[in-house]
Amino acid sequence: MQLFQSKFNKGSVWLVGAGPGDPGLLTLLAFESIKKADVIFYDALLNDHILSVAKPSAELIFVGKRGNKKSINQLEINKLLINEAKKNKRVLRLKGGDPFIFGRGGEEALSLKLNKIPYKIVPGATAGIAGLAYAGIPATHRDFNTSITFISAYGAGGEKPETIDWASFSKTSQLIVIYMGLERMKWVCNELIKRGRDKNENIAIISNATNKNQKILIGNLENFSKDFDQSTIDSPALLVIGKNVLLSPILNWYADETNINFYKERKEKYEQYNFI
Ligand code: SAH
Repeated sequence: MQLFQSKFNKGSVWLVGAGPGDPGLLTLLAFESIKKADVIFYDALLNDHILSVAKPSAELIFVGKRGNKKSINQLEINKLLINEAKKNKRVLRLKGGDPFIFGRGGEEALSLKLNKIPYKIVPGATAGIAGLAYAGIPATHRDFNTSITFISAYGAGGEKPETIDWASFSKTSQLIVIYMGLERMKWVCNELIKRGRDKNENIAIISNATNKNQKILIGNLENFSKDFDQSTIDSPALLVIGKNVLLSPILNWYADETNINFYKERKEKYEQYNFI
């Protein structure tokens, strides 16, 4: 099988999505690029196993956020990519999920373009799609939704984004997938309830999706908005709001019994639906 554009030229940068965790979700292009890269800039969301296919001489440079330590800023990362490409290396910028979904891939591509550095963009499976599949939540299901909304709970400066029109989302978005929402879950649930979403609407938290420690917690907007302690769930995590969540206990093929939990709800409530 011949890949269409797999030549990784020296002096170029590849912006590559590695998917949300399971190395099996790497694309062939991502896999090839990791094997060929001379230098790899990677971030915190990356599963360690994925880097093990890099060649022994490859430089692996962490540029993500770890614990409370100050992270390297985006402009510095842009500069590093340019400098390494100018040294005639094959430079790989490897990111969790997809580089263009809340991944700052656009900013990096723009800076490479402005500096006349050749680049290529390799999409990856984004957490909001692949993570749902591994949680047994079909992103679309004809009985439930004809649209999906992806939301980031953080604006560019870390603030709560003012551009989120909760009133219209709560009415028109049948399935809402929220990235970076764990710490702001109460805010999300309250906004939706306040703007008319049924307080009994289903919500799932999928933490460490597609990884071995994936966990799913299912509840409703009302109980998650009140006394939920987010420190009981690990990052990274997605919030998924909508009827499709009801299918998770039925289609949850990846996790074993212990990995799916119900928050102050009876499991039978979910089992009373007979979709099959
Ligand atoms: N570019 C990435 C998203 C980066 S933003 C992508 O396309 O998936 C970081 C957010 O993504 C996290 O806060 C979390 O909400 C989500 N995320 C990434 N990997 C995840 C995983 N394995 N499990 C659950 N959520 C994940």
